[in-house]
Amino acid sequence: RQSNLASTLHNLDGRSYGNLKQIRGRYTFGPVTVFIDRVQADPFASPSKVRVRVDRADAKFPLDLTTDRADRIAAADYLLRAGNEVLAKLDQRALILGHPGQEILERTNILIDDAGFEARLLVNLPARGRRILGHQAADILTRDLPEFAERLFLFDRWSGAPAGRGGNTHAPSAQGLADHVQLHRDQLELRSHLGEAGLIGFVGNGAILPRKSGDSDLPMKSSDAVVFTSPPELEHTVELSSGRTVTGMGIPRGVTVIVGGGYHGKSTILRALERGVYPHIAGDGREWVISDPTATSIRAEDGRAVTGDDISAFINNLPSGSDTRFFSTTNASGSTSQAANLVEAIEAGAKTLLIDEDTSATNFMIRDDRMRALIPAEREPITPFVSRVRPLLTERGVSTLLVAGGSSAFFEVADHVIALDAYVPADVTARARELVGAEDGAGPSAEASDAVFAAAPARVPTAGALRPSSKTKSAKAKGLDTVQFGRSFIDLAALSQLIDGQQTGAIAEALEYLAEIFDGTTSITEALTEIDAMLDAQGIDGITGHRAHPGHLARPRTQEIAAALNRFRGLRLVD
Ligand code: ADP
Ligand code: MG
Repeated sequence: RQSNLASTLHNLDGRSYGNLKQIRGRYTFGPVTVFIDRVQADPFASPSKVRVRVDRADAKFPLDLTTDRADRIAAADYLLRAGNEVLAKLDQRALILGHPGQEILERTNILIDDAGFEARLLVNLPARGRRILGHQAADILTRDLPEFAERLFLFDRWSGAPAGRGGNTHAPSAQGLADHVQLHRDQLELRSHLGEAGLIGFVGNGAILPRKSGDSDLPMKSSDAVVFTSPPELEHTVELSSGRTVTGMGIPRGVTVIVGGGYHGKSTILRALERGVYPHIAGDGREWVISDPTATSIRAEDGRAVTGDDISAFINNLPSGSDTRFFSTTNASGSTSQAANLVEAIEAGAKTLLIDEDTSATNFMIRDDRMRALIPAEREPITPFVSRVRPLLTERGVSTLLVAGGSSAFFEVADHVIALDAYVPADVTARARELVGAEDGAGPSAEASDAVFAAAPARVPTAGALRPSSKTKSAKAKGLDTVQFGRSFIDLAALSQLIDGQQTGAIAEALEYLAEIFDGTTSITEALTEIDAMLDAQGIDGITGHRAHPGHLARPRTQEIAAALNRFRGLRLVD
């Protein structure tokens, strides 16, 4: 039906825009099937949605790279990067495939399934005023779009293509694809090895951790950066089944404190580990920075709303008399917001906490002896984190990696202390223990106490908790940091591990999905488990109910879905 679509579009030239609706449908161009799923109502509305698909028999991609689920994620990521190169070569700006960052995320942009390969694009169909530019539209949809699909999805056409020129350019090449998939496999293998070896994080020797600038996620020029080298005491070498050997610093389960002078690179290493929950592409500098996938960054976030959190392990006897075992506020303070972020992270399954002094409430973290003497315990609602970090580990199995350059308070409770000096780490555990007068060989001290993290009661949202009053489409991402949910806005700016606007889009879909699950008996934890299992089984298309064209979404972690839910000011719980 090729001539069909082309001639229809030529005939529509100059007619009013609304007539474009009739081109919806499915068209064949040799091995390429084009689906026009949605046509925008006017030139200024959100773009139209089109898909192109090629069957496996025609695509001829190597089966060993495109069969396993994890391989498909990496191969789709490669095709997404390559697809943007193809579009650039075609000089076709009307077609939008979506741009990935430095991480490999599971996305909807490219779908690899048992039957074939599919790209989901957005397209701004051209107009002059409100008149259809039919000839241009025909060029886009019947010439460039099929050509795009052939160049991207016909593997035979790749041979002879120049290899990627490095950096962020990815001209498709067979070797490029194989390397991309293999790196991803190696990263996942290293991650599972870390879990078995009792490590919560790993930073490979040779890694480049600093970024080009505060607003860029690209690596600092290697001539400017001090490459990472592990202290000998913490060095681990892992041999991967591919034959690759990786050596670097392993951070053991437990409490680890990073110290060092200001500007010596403490926050930079913590931030790299924060991002280490996602695999990075070759050339990023963080390819071998791998963290416990549940690791969650905890910071103060005053002003946020809190609904029914049990923060009593940290905060008690508030002057307002509120019950901190079921604490709610529309305007949390620095310390209460940090306590809420922490208990919510644990509720969402975090086994590692990442905390930076730069973004913490001091009174949440520590309290010194003179202050303890001046303010009697019963007048101080806060039990600082330094007194809770050991019970958190022993009672809940939650490890902490903490940056603290301003106070020695954590030396007593740390399993390991790492000092950074001009970006070079050293293991200073023994010296730190000496300074606090610990006996030789004695372990970190825990404040003797009864269990403080008694099993928190399950939080169960009411049946209507996620049904906003507005009847229109309820949840929508607004950029990276905001989800509009009904009439209210959920502020996600504090979530440093939410890294891609497409994840925010998926979080909006997840909230609608959760609205269906919450029935007044299902807890937040149960609902999160259910959504995660669904995503594992069906991919992100599942969260949209398998709309033919789901738009551009990327898989968020459970932690970030939970964080959005917890920040929704309309959340209501069953008593
Ligand atoms: P701290 O938290 O110890 O005060 P930061 O991590 O914020 O220090 O780093 C301070 C500056 O040093 C930042 O501008 C950062 O980009 C840069 N930096 C960090 N690590 C390195 C490195 N390995 N090589 C070169 N520059 C670095
Ligand atoms: Mg810092």
